[in-house]
Amino acid sequence: MSNPFPILDGHNDTILALGRSSPEQERTFFDRSDLGHIDLPRAREGGLAGGFFAVFTPNIDWKKQKIPRIATDGSGDGSAGWDVPHPDPIDRGYALNFTVKLLSRLIRLEADSDGEVRVVRRVEELRQCLADGSLAVILHVEGAECIDTDLEALHLLYEAGLRSLGPVWSRSNDFGHGVPFSFPGSPDVMPGLTDAGKRLVRSCNELGILIDLSHLNEKGFWDVAEHSDAPLVATHSCAHALCPSPRNLTDRQIDALGETNGIVGINFARSFLRSDGDGDADTSVTEIVRHAAYVAERIGVEHVALGSDFDGTQVPQDLKDAAGLPKLVDALTDHGFDDDGLKKVTHQNWIRVLDATWRG
Ligand code: ZN
Repeated sequence: MSNPFPILDGHNDTILALGRSSPEQERTFFDRSDLGHIDLPRAREGGLAGGFFAVFTPNIDWKKQKIPRIATDGSGDGSAGWDVPHPDPIDRGYALNFTVKLLSRLIRLEADSDGEVRVVRRVEELRQCLADGSLAVILHVEGAECIDTDLEALHLLYEAGLRSLGPVWSRSNDFGHGVPFSFPGSPDVMPGLTDAGKRLVRSCNELGILIDLSHLNEKGFWDVAEHSDAPLVATHSCAHALCPSPRNLTDRQIDALGETNGIVGINFARSFLRSDGDGDADTSVTEIVRHAAYVAERIGVEHVALGSDFDGTQVPQDLKDAAGLPKLVDALTDHGFDDDGLKKVTHQNWIRVLDATWRG
């Protein structure tokens, strides 16, 4: 393998982003673009070997979700904190239709790739991709609104390739409650998982589907910890101690991930990295390193990975996109991560956890 640090990434929204562009912003997965963050040429350039590709159903009034932040102190500039309205729950029929649309987009992308993109269902297939250079796609559904409480759709999605599921996005559904986007704030809002949510956890364990704790509120987090027998994983979150966003993990949560041999996939979102919660463009890639080092020092480098949120958020300007990933590897090296640690953070930790979670 020419690149010693092929990167498996915990989260991207590329499937959604490929369809969201206006005509003048159109891009495909196979041609290099400066729009968004991931396409095949930029993945190759940056050493992105694969990752969790999210199928996410936005609220119908997606654009209205970009509501300006409301300053919580009434000052107008939001310097003392801000809030945004919690996105409304969405209808299951709408979510199922949208999920089918994105799944179809992914299946066609794989078919059109001439073997360069592969949806992986087993760890052996993931390892094979790392060896032969195919881009490995792990199918993730973010927010289980498309799944009925009898879990019929869960089995269907599993057969379609689903291997990772976030029970909630940052809104409420039949299974539980997501955290809001306010800042600063605690993830300890609203009640825990519903009975259907607990059944969902057990079924994911039985099928061998990874349960993603990013976006889940804290009581829901502890319910998963109690009911799941798999390593606990947050695919795209950061450390609350360094940036007090409700989307980030408290020290207690981080410790629980370590104790179950799980993983924190460090999110590249500027507003989840910076201690002031600001999304300033001049945020540096060293902010990602700061969170990775914090988690590594607290629970060990075996429990740190990357969860970019590419194509779903704003990332540090000096990273820019997937082609910039070598800059992150360099910054981790500069901080003191050795080759052994870098291999773990870039891909080995994900492989270990998926090996312990998937069946076969
Ligand atoms: Zn997310």
